[in-house]
Formats: sequence, C-alpha cells, structure tokens
Amino acid sequence: MKKKQLETYCEKTWCPGCTNFAILEAVKGAVLELEKEGVKRETLAFTVGIGCHAKMFDYLNLNSFYGLHGRALPLAQGIKLANPKLRVFSFVGDGDVYDEGISHLIHAAKRNADIAVFVHDNRNFALTVSQFTATSPKGFKGSSTPRGSVEEPFNPLELMMVSGATFIARGYALRVEHLKDLIKKAILHKGFSFLEILQPCITFFDNRQFYQERIYELKGPFSKAKAEEKIREWDYRNGKNKIPIGLFYKVEKPSFDELVG
Ligand code: SF4
Repeated sequence: MKKKQLETYCEKTWCPGCTNFAILEAVKGAVLELEKEGVKRETLAFTVGIGCHAKMFDYLNLNSFYGLHGRALPLAQGIKLANPKLRVFSFVGDGDVYDEGISHLIHAAKRNADIAVFVHDNRNFALTVSQFTATSPKGFKGSSTPRGSVEEPFNPLELMMVSGATFIARGYALRVEHLKDLIKKAILHKGFSFLEILQPCITFFDNRQFYQERIYELKGPFSKAKAEEKIREWDYRNGKNKIPIGLFYKVEKPSFDELVG
C-alpha cells in the first residue's frame, strides 16, 4: 500500500499548523510499516469520539466508526468482541476520554480489553473553543475559566497503572518517528494499550516550547516499580521536571476477548 491510499478526499479543517497533522503522519507511517510486516489493512479498524482529534476519521482511509462524545472505547471493544481477528484502536481527546468518558477508559484498562487508545492530549476542549479539562494545568485560562482554573490536573499514566493497563506509553506529537514506533507497538500489543500523546493546541494552548525544553526519550519498558517511579517523574503538577516519553510499562496478561471467547 502507498501512503496516498491512506488519504481521503476530505478537506483538512484543523487550524493551519495544528500538531494533529503530525499525529496523522505518524499513524500513516505506522500503518505502512505494519503492512510491510504482514498486517493487512482490512484487519485494522478504529473509532473516534468528539473533538479536534476525531477528524482522524475524515482523513484516514481505514475501517472506522465515528462515535459519540466519550464513547469511542465501548465502540472499539464491541468491534473487537464481534470480530476478535481485527486489531482495533481509538483516537480520543483529553476532554473526550478524561472527562466525558473516563469510566470507559478505567474499565477498558481494568478488563484488559485488546484495544489501543491514542489520546490527543492538548489540555483543553479545543473544538468548543477552549474549556478546561482534567489535564489542564492549574491557572489555565480558557473560555470557562477566564480567571484561571483552580483545579490541579491528574496524571493519566498513573491512573492507567492503577487501573490495570498492560501497555503504558507517552509520545510527543512533534517527534513523529518516535511516535510512529509507539503507535505500532501499541497496535501490536495483545491487551489494553494506552498511549498519551502530548499534543500542543497552537490556537488555545501553545505549549510547544515548554515541551521541547523538557522532553527526553526513555529506554523502557521497566519493571512495575520503576515504571511507577518514571510515571510520577512529571506531570503538570511538577511542571519544572524533565518529561519522559516512550514506553514505561508492558506486561502480558490474558485479554478480555480471550477470557470470554
Ligand atoms: Fe488543533 Fe487546537 Fe486548532 Fe483544534 S483548536 S485544530 S487542536 S490547533
């Protein structure tokens, strides 16, 4: 398959320069490499929620389903149960999956559903012109918090570790090759794969410089104890620390479809 065959006729309506374009490139690269390694395109399927991330549905020519807000993960799990031969993944946003649909995220990780979740974390509800989300930093000024959010953000990787995710990683939208490798690994992992993608929203929360000054690449995966330590190394509550990206944790366990199949 050629890269062009992964494209659709849809006009791209992301803001010019949006870092979602980089994620789209990383995904296309991952799919092309998977195909070279014998994974057939028709065995891939993905779902999306609602938000800027969800335009992946419009721009990526693969089997896909456009879901409701926060509901991309139940859809993905349903597809996987109906046809366990498929490799199923979801693109979601931080507002979409850490606010609207957070219980689905926790329970999909808990049951080790064999899906991969790619979170475009731009730390605000960007599509609806910037309300704060669960990962907006304290003091975040958006349309619902003009004087600054008073809440602390949580660390999604910590949440995934305690929920039982069997693959936990963080990537950066603007390190496309590195991100491509993480996407590939997440799709190939048998079990629940969680990939948090730091995705600066250049219109409402442009933190590219903040990330670029702090990011470094990990050589994981690690033991559980070491992964927990690395996961706690950074989130927006200790924002001055360096930001590790890469694969923190990976473990083999029976997946939900295997247990009920
Ligand atoms: Fe990208 Fe932000 Fe524009 Fe949405 S609002 S398309 S995330 S730059």
